Amino acid sequence: SKYTREDIIRIVEEEDVAFIRLQFCDLFGVPKNIAIPSSGLEKALDNKYVFDGISVEGFVRNEESDMYLYPDLDSFEIYPWRPQAGKVARMFCNVYTADNKPFSGDPRYVLKQVVEKACGMGLNIKVNPLPEFFLFDYDDNGQPTTDTKERAGYFDVAPLDQGENVRREIILNLEEMGFNISSSHHEIAPAQHEIQFGSEEAVRAADMVMTFRMAVKTIAKKHGLYATFMPKPVEGISGSGMHMSFIAEDKDGKNIFAYENGALSETAKQFVAGILYHVKGMTLITNPIVNSYKRLVPGYDAPVDISWSSNSANRSALIRISSDLDLNPQVEVRNPDATCNPYLAIALLMAAGLDGIEKKMTPPEAVSTRNAGAEQELDVLPLTLGEAIYAYQSDSFVKEILGDEIYNKVLTAKRAEWKEFRTCVTKWEIDKYLNNF
Ligand code: GLN
Ligand code: MG
Ligand code: MG
Repeated sequence: SKYTREDIIRIVEEEDVAFIRLQFCDLFGVPKNIAIPSSGLEKALDNKYVFDGISVEGFVRNEESDMYLYPDLDSFEIYPWRPQAGKVARMFCNVYTADNKPFSGDPRYVLKQVVEKACGMGLNIKVNPLPEFFLFDYDDNGQPTTDTKERAGYFDVAPLDQGENVRREIILNLEEMGFNISSSHHEIAPAQHEIQFGSEEAVRAADMVMTFRMAVKTIAKKHGLYATFMPKPVEGISGSGMHMSFIAEDKDGKNIFAYENGALSETAKQFVAGILYHVKGMTLITNPIVNSYKRLVPGYDAPVDISWSSNSANRSALIRISSDLDLNPQVEVRNPDATCNPYLAIALLMAAGLDGIEKKMTPPEAVSTRNAGAEQELDVLPLTLGEAIYAYQSDSFVKEILGDEIYNKVLTAKRAEWKEFRTCVTKWEIDKYLNNF
């Protein structure tokens, strides 16, 4: 590992770190933390910080609600956007129960178990999440809006691209926090952006999504802009996804998805097949809010059909094999959005891919050109949160990976959310029907 206990103590001293945030997340991927003064560092490193799980969404347990935070030393980073005298650092934590056992309701633990499973199969899966986001204006009362004066589009440059300076600062901050940023660009819609970082080991990739969302929101705010990862904030233009690309390496670091005599490897196909097989049941986790399903409609480079493409041309396919110039193929899953809990989403996608390898599944025929799906009868992703809830309950694999505790809590919360939406009369309905009926 990167850091020892002594390293952390030394860095905190040398870097003048005044506060340390012990961070974890709730079931819905919302970051939580306890901030401790650096005088509490040794106690934190002894895994002695307790919080009351009752107050955290999805963590409630009947009697024993005391949870212990075990910091992951390698995740130590200083927040570059906080004051540089008396700095603020953070460590992601694993959540443990009072009797020293990993808490089964901790999303990071669910992911760690899948990583272990991959390890047992001799595989090291690397993940590259790709979150898109919008930068909108605040109104005069300081409330976020979906307004922007920007008119730029795909790959546009300044002065049309007004997010240039914000993106620059986000990238510089993230690089200080150990991100390897490969590129960034203006996305298709006005005020929509994308920043690409490289593939990482799965737990770290999920941690990075947490850091990314926090950094983007924090730095946008400094520039007077509101950053949102909401999947479809404005109707009629592109939504924001969080594509997830996967690479699998064997023990010697060889990419086992690599082409064999110009053809995609059997293992890569099996991995694809496993994800396609389980995708409907996992959608509640990868696309967890009512609004997620407003993005998954035709016409905006977001997937609808359950299909895959062995080349990179087809952007409406659910899974695309993308490849760099060195011909390192990656399995790119295009339906997830950045409102998901990254630990649970990555855990399920990886586990599904591994299930495909284990069971030697065969994927359906690849759809190679745009709209080729029109001639084929293709199954589709859940159309609403309601359908996603139904599909989630129909695939016992999902429950097996998430564990009963998380599975049931997600189900209860999402049912309530769907019920709330179902009982809501929308502006669309009034506009559409009131005059006619
Ligand atoms: N924004 C699109 C989506 O919703 C993706 C567009 C792209 O990256 N080319 O998935
Ligand atoms: Mg770097
Ligand atoms: Mg994009």
